[in-house]
Amino acid sequence: MEIKVEQCKVRKEKPDFSKLGFGKYFTDHMFIMQYSDTEGWHDAKIVPFGYIPIHPASTVLHYGAEIFEGMKAYKTADGFQLFRPLENFKRLNDSAERLCLPKVDEEFTLKALIELIKLDYDWIPESVGTSLYIRPFMFGNDESLGVHAVHNATFVIILSPVGSYYAEGLSPVKIIIENEDVRAVRGGTGYAKCGGNYAASMRAGKRAAEKGFSQVLWLDGVERKYIEEVGAMNVMFKINGEIITPVLTGSVLPGITRKSCIEMLKSWGYKVSERLLSVDELIGAAENGTLDEAWGTGTAAVVSPIGNLNYKDKNHIVSDNKIGPLTQKLYDELTGIQWGLKPDPYGWCVKVKM
Ligand SMILES: *Cc1c(COP(=O)(O)O)cnc(C)c1O
Repeated sequence: MEIKVEQCKVRKEKPDFSKLGFGKYFTDHMFIMQYSDTEGWHDAKIVPFGYIPIHPASTVLHYGAEIFEGMKAYKTADGFQLFRPLENFKRLNDSAERLCLPKVDEEFTLKALIELIKLDYDWIPESVGTSLYIRPFMFGNDESLGVHAVHNATFVIILSPVGSYYAEGLSPVKIIIENEDVRAVRGGTGYAKCGGNYAASMRAGKRAAEKGFSQVLWLDGVERKYIEEVGAMNVMFKINGEIITPVLTGSVLPGITRKSCIEMLKSWGYKVSERLLSVDELIGAAENGTLDEAWGTGTAAVVSPIGNLNYKDKNHIVSDNKIGPLTQKLYDELTGIQWGLKPDPYGWCVKVKM
């Protein structure tokens, strides 16, 4: 499929790259294409960034048929690089399958993304820790209120320069274990990256914020017994020297940062167990001193140390509320590869020359 390019006439003024925050500014262009059962994907184009007209009966507005991805481009000496981008498009297709949305051609979508970034290359910030955040998303776009698998969909990619997640170096986050609301259940949409999962988690997130916690640690939706994941991050624990991370049961999002950390940890000789971890086992380890380190993994923060775990109104301090040595090593190695500052022995980065 051909990609039509309609460049904007006037380029926007760039924001102050030292005060970017997250997802507040958008580049000059976006990629958009349409799907219908009769035509398949068509009308692929790069157009000036702007509003998307939408029918008031559009499926997404009523039944929440929406999926998305989150990934980053990093500026390099002679261009930019992407971290495991095909993994994201593969996961987008897994999400599409779950929500009965159409699949995309992964290679074509990557090509479209690269073309879009090339056009908006000077929006990639350069200083350490900053990057160009990439948000591909798709929504069901039938112009009818009937409830059925969609026949029409829209796929879009927008780009946003983002600042360093940690303005003042890595600092541990405070997490509260949620035992009322659940994010997802087995058989539901937990493994899909869809907007609905986030809608379901807002209330607990709001309650946590009111109590001074930055994120929620979810328990499984059936027994409220097993650890699942944190907000928009997967979670890992070092207990008695072993690395434990919740097994992908269907209600946990299969993070690409998670997968990459597991591969790195194994290559360093650590025992990594993907298994069920009950909250009682975790709190027991925190109480008897065998919980050495805890951290979250995700594209936004990469690796995020957890310094305080609250369960049933009791705080459990992890690693003296400091970043643990293994957490720091994972962060340094992974961001080193992503920023192009360290060798990439796994061949994870897709490099593009300008
Ligand atoms: C995106 C996401 C993650 C992290 O996935 P990465 O591929 O590592 O960015 C974890 N949990 C949820 C709920 C997510 O949406």
